[in-house]
Amino acid sequence: MTTIKASCPSCGDVELTPHQVRLVVCSVKSWSYYAFICTTCHEEVRKPAGRDVVALLISGGVVAEPWNVPAEVLEEHEGPTLNYDDVLDFALWLEQADLLAAAAAAQGPRPRAQAPETAA
Ligand SMILES: [Zn+2]
Repeated sequence: MTTIKASCPSCGDVELTPHQVRLVVCSVKSWSYYAFICTTCHEEVRKPAGRDVVALLISGGVVAEPWNVPAEVLEEHEGPTLNYDDVLDFALWLEQADLLAAAAAAQGPRPRAQAPETAA
């Protein structure tokens, strides 16, 4: 059986079988990685797997696990981050909204509510 030599940051070189190595090949190539539980310290070691490492591990008998990242993860977002108040405002707005889809199509959610004015 093939022996795979890897390195634990704490223990140094370790020898593994293909079944002890987890290879995750991501649709975003730079996110691919391999991982194993160190046979000495029993900690998980995770390292990036470039194209060469992926090919080497597969040729050694490691089964590649595909990881398809949804396109939404890679979208760029503009504007401020939603905070707790935004979510609360939206929940309060939802309590009043009878026709959610119609409101969303017409104007989207209302802007954040203004503080009530005090009577003079
Ligand atoms: Zn170790």
